[in-house]
Amino acid sequence: MISLPETVKLVAVSKTQSLESILEIYTQGQRDFGENYVQELVEKQALLPNDIHWHFIGHLQTNKVKQIAPFVNLIHGVDSLKLLAEINKQAAKINRVIDCLLQIHIAQEETKFGLDETELGVLLGDSSIKEFKNIRICGLMGMASFSDDKNKVKLEFRKLKTIFIKYKSYFKLENPIISMGMSGDFEIAIVEGSNLVRVGSLIFGERNHTKK
Ligand SMILES: *Cc1c(COP(=O)(O)O)cnc(C)c1O
Repeated sequence: MISLPETVKLVAVSKTQSLESILEIYTQGQRDFGENYVQELVEKQALLPNDIHWHFIGHLQTNKVKQIAPFVNLIHGVDSLKLLAEINKQAAKINRVIDCLLQIHIAQEETKFGLDETELGVLLGDSSIKEFKNIRICGLMGMASFSDDKNKVKLEFRKLKTIFIKYKSYFKLENPIISMGMSGDFEIAIVEGSNLVRVGSLIFGERNHTKK
């Protein structure tokens, strides 16, 4: 296991990893795990210990919210009002309040999902958000560019941190969450103020292929 400052939470990203590998890490005391495919998460959740906190870190489609609503602990990648509304609706049906993070686009790559700062402001200012009693917006999440240019990565994380501070009062948590940093860049992310890192390959070793 990697060692982190006490103020930083580790989510072990277990996508594509076997139940055995996950249990091995679980036995070492790890309780927060992250998955980014709904089907895979639902299957694993049913077979693994109940005290695991499951994080959904992928791009969530509205028609799949229902499947993870009963047990998911934190949804990291929310980037639309429509998705928030659906999470709220499904959570209300089962009397839960589901914690969410809004995903901010900080990387230069076109493929990464997320809101820009203007879109974030519009979303948080939308009056319908106040009606959503069954979600709690706990902070922000972002992914830096896949790049060897450490300075570039650093500046992207710094940008996320700046946005996070600016909107902090909107987040319904005493200590709001800023989810940034993966195997290749979590150390930079921590220096730039991350308090939750999502680390996969560094903990589990290389991912099993067929999926990304
Ligand atoms: C896969 C994934 C990670 C973990 O990636 P590693 O490089 O294996 O640490 C973190 N965050 C998200 C959103 C992912 O999809």
